[in-house]
Amino acid sequence: MTQRPADNTANAPKISFVSLGCPKALVDSEHIITRLRAEGYELVKSHAGADAVIVNTCGFLDSAKAESLAAIGAALEENGKVIVTGCMGAEAQTIRAAHPNVLSISGPQAFETVMDAVHEAIAPAHDPFFDLLPAQGIKLTPRHYAYLKISEGCSNRCSFCIIPHLRGDLVSRPAGDILREAEKLVGAGVKELLIISQDTGAYGRDISYAESRFADRTVRAKFIDLMRELGELGIWVRLHYVYPYPHIDEVIELMVEGKILPYLDIPFQHASPKVLRAMRRPGDQVKTLERIKSWRSLCPDLTLRSTFIVGFPGEAEDDFAMLLDWLGEARLDHVGAFKYEPVEGAAANDLGLPSVPPDVQESRYRRFMERQRAISTQRLKQKVGRHMQVIIDRAGSRQAEGRSKADAPEIDGKVRVTSHRPLRVGEIVSVKIDSADAYDLSGTAV
Ligand code: SF4
Repeated sequence: MTQRPADNTANAPKISFVSLGCPKALVDSEHIITRLRAEGYELVKSHAGADAVIVNTCGFLDSAKAESLAAIGAALEENGKVIVTGCMGAEAQTIRAAHPNVLSISGPQAFETVMDAVHEAIAPAHDPFFDLLPAQGIKLTPRHYAYLKISEGCSNRCSFCIIPHLRGDLVSRPAGDILREAEKLVGAGVKELLIISQDTGAYGRDISYAESRFADRTVRAKFIDLMRELGELGIWVRLHYVYPYPHIDEVIELMVEGKILPYLDIPFQHASPKVLRAMRRPGDQVKTLERIKSWRSLCPDLTLRSTFIVGFPGEAEDDFAMLLDWLGEARLDHVGAFKYEPVEGAAANDLGLPSVPPDVQESRYRRFMERQRAISTQRLKQKVGRHMQVIIDRAGSRQAEGRSKADAPEIDGKVRVTSHRPLRVGEIVSVKIDSADAYDLSGTAV
């Protein structure tokens, strides 16, 4: 039997990692970290103690770019050897202008470029122990939930968005690959899978719904087929970033059957047909209201999350009033809003529409969030007295914190749980809801 040194990381080269941006960027970070660990690099928390720093940037909004530049600056100051990757990497000249001394700049998913830069900055350990690597790869999320990316890029051309420019058109993964990754994650203890992509409902379109092998069968790269397979894993499966295509209606049946969580994250962005047209988004929000009604009549527990942009160029007061009315009708469960930012390179900047002044944007944002707060408070109140399944995210001896099926991690509400026995992270418990506030619930484990 081969003997291993007691401490195989003592002399390992050390990398400190900053991961900024959305869950899709987080999945890229996981890929890079998996590669680093596979090659024997150790991850450390402080820049000062590292041999090099990797900053995975976000370039979606100007505020995100500023945050990325600040993170690069801090890493340069504390360490000096900085490798930049991610969405903002598409703007190498902006990064070089602010920080000329970074070692390398690459765009999203440029894993080879990042690894080449790492090798140049600090050579890998001589004899990495490949079997230190868990089969499911390294996850940056807690052990009980994981993001599963089913495709990259986007073939839509929303006028405010530069993601297709940064990440390219839709590229779907073969269904068999996704299902194998999902199975590994479940085997490693994951209880909840969060399905992500830029455009989840478009899955498979680019590869003509190609078939691939999984276990003893053939699976089509079709949204509904993939969901049906994932629904057989016996865990929570939550859908994010679903563009409101007509075929989304099919997945509601799987939710009614309890195979997929009754949760849909659909970025509606606005309600005024005029603004939606300028955004190049699907424009019939009256029909969308009818669809929401029919989804809810089939699946009364359906939770809807969405995001909206207020203050888009050309948004007049009556467009905004239409949005508020629509919100009042739709009664969504979770809503996020952004004030429009003219991202460099976005088509919306060239539409010739008048921009909305910052003070008007601010006041519309506040009015929008107030309206949603009232809706959320009312919807949560209706849950008091009910029994719900709650997945525990944070354990304590008598007080724990978790989420119901209606809440995605990081972005939605939480359930504070009182229990007469200690609860474990990742455990799913039945909780009687005792009270509610605007965003969170409190209850007792039964
Ligand atoms: S659907 Fe629109 S907003 Fe979403 S990534 Fe594609 S282009 Fe951007």
